[in-house]
Amino acid sequence: MTDLNDLKQKFARFMVGRYGSDELNQALFGTVLVLIVISFFVRSHVFLVVELLLLVLAYGRMFSKNTARRFQENQRFLDVRFRALERWRKIRERLKDGRKYKIFKCPNCGQKLRIPRGHGKIRVRCRKCGHEFEGRS
Ligand SMILES: [Zn+2]
Repeated sequence: MTDLNDLKQKFARFMVGRYGSDELNQALFGTVLVLIVISFFVRSHVFLVVELLLLVLAYGRMFSKNTARRFQENQRFLDVRFRALERWRKIRERLKDGRKYKIFKCPNCGQKLRIPRGHGKIRVRCRKCGHEFEGRS
């Protein structure tokens, strides 16, 4: 007779020396969930294949005994994720800036000039060559 506690113990024994979960695996499982939701709307076998591959990869990593290698993979993933988030943050910042400022290009020298918006028709003086021109901010 195997009851639930027995199964739990068996699983715990099975997991000894194995890698377990990390951020990369959470991301893999998260991606599978997103794909499952998408596949409700878009019927395609491609999703099923990708889902299966990701699941095999995630469980393979989880039960792996090469913990050093899995740790390295996770570190690389965290690194890539951090850089992607940083890039995304900068893009959002630039978009926010874009609403507050207008970029003018000096007709004389081509220098880009950042002018706050909302002042109507203004005279812009190029800080590089001193050329003055009119613009609408
Ligand atoms: Zn200029």
